[in-house]
Amino acid sequence: MGETVRMGNTFVEPQPTPLALLLLGQQSDPDSERGVDCPGELPAASDPDLVRRAAAAKAALGDRVFILGHHYQRDEVIQFADVTGDSFKLAQQAAAHPEAEYIVFAGVHFMAESADILTSPDQQVILPDLAAGCSMADMAEIGQVEDCWSALEAAGVAGSTVPITYMNSTAAIKAFTGRHGGAVCTSSNAERSLRWAFEQGEKVLFLPDQHLGRNTAVRDLGLRPADCVLYNPNRPNGGLTVEQIRAAKVILWKGHCSVHGRFTPECVDEVRERVPGVIVMVHPECQYEVVAKADAVGSTERIISTITAAAPGTAWAVGTELNLVKRLAVANPDKEVVYLDRTVCYCSTMNRIDLPHLVWVLESLVAGTVVNRIEVDADTAHWARVALDRMLALPGATPAKD
Ligand code: SF4
Repeated sequence: MGETVRMGNTFVEPQPTPLALLLLGQQSDPDSERGVDCPGELPAASDPDLVRRAAAAKAALGDRVFILGHHYQRDEVIQFADVTGDSFKLAQQAAAHPEAEYIVFAGVHFMAESADILTSPDQQVILPDLAAGCSMADMAEIGQVEDCWSALEAAGVAGSTVPITYMNSTAAIKAFTGRHGGAVCTSSNAERSLRWAFEQGEKVLFLPDQHLGRNTAVRDLGLRPADCVLYNPNRPNGGLTVEQIRAAKVILWKGHCSVHGRFTPECVDEVRERVPGVIVMVHPECQYEVVAKADAVGSTERIISTITAAAPGTAWAVGTELNLVKRLAVANPDKEVVYLDRTVCYCSTMNRIDLPHLVWVLESLVAGTVVNRIEVDADTAHWARVALDRMLALPGATPAKD
């Protein structure tokens, strides 16, 4: 396929991949999905009345429902969002609307958990499709993390190690972090979080995104790549010797985002040839080698604000989820906004939430039935909140994420 991803005034779709079929709900992706069913009498995707039905149900619920739309969501869902943003901003927005009995989170599972943790017990958080997990969050199971901690204890370093977990983690991992003196971080405050952690201890266990951890430790804190080791939860002792664990400053969990992990250094080279003068901006969940070749790095909120404020006539290649990049292109017709990769790179799990699922949950609420409620148990919520509050107490904390 030729010039497929130049945008400007007209967005041209990148080349489809087999994964793109997931957008139509035609396949599953066992590598990146939670593998749970989402039973329910969904309306047919072909129903031409879906937009009207969603609008009618939302209007009937009024202030009782508040719909959160993550930046990576489809347009068909985003049009019904009361607020759009990254995961932390959305969780905060949910907490800021106590009048809303129902929080419908058009995002993924860990985001709905965070919203449940931050909202009052009277508010019910709903995830329209229970199969909307996050491949990165699912790469760190609590049992695996406890095994890792045992390995650190056996190496005699657990007492001097501070866990930092990315927002993109399950509530159980956040609670583990809270119990062990650590904090949550976002992609915009990872540097502050790591610096804080090194004031509390000598080592950091960074979960679950190895790339955000490595990019922050090396680019922002000036550590050497060799100061970081990779803990593989699928290998005995993480695939590390006791000496390697003792020598490391940062122990990176072997997790990654299946969307941002797809960008390669070659993508950067290719787009520079294709679009003269282009400024390459990528998300810090991208591989270290990609970030090193880019001109700028930032969270989704940072990417949006940077390109929005950029001079007319500038050209940008953006390395993050495709729905966001498409909307950026439309919102900035005076600039050229192109996608960093030539092939489709949607978040397949996020995209499981579609109009039929939204209509189903809203019409169920109108009928008095709460479906797909996400609830975090009280003890987990307490300790996860401890880890979140430590992040919020960091100086100048203005979190924004994913
Ligand atoms: S884009 Fe990556 S990190 Fe974000 S929800 Fe999707 S899989 Fe998870």
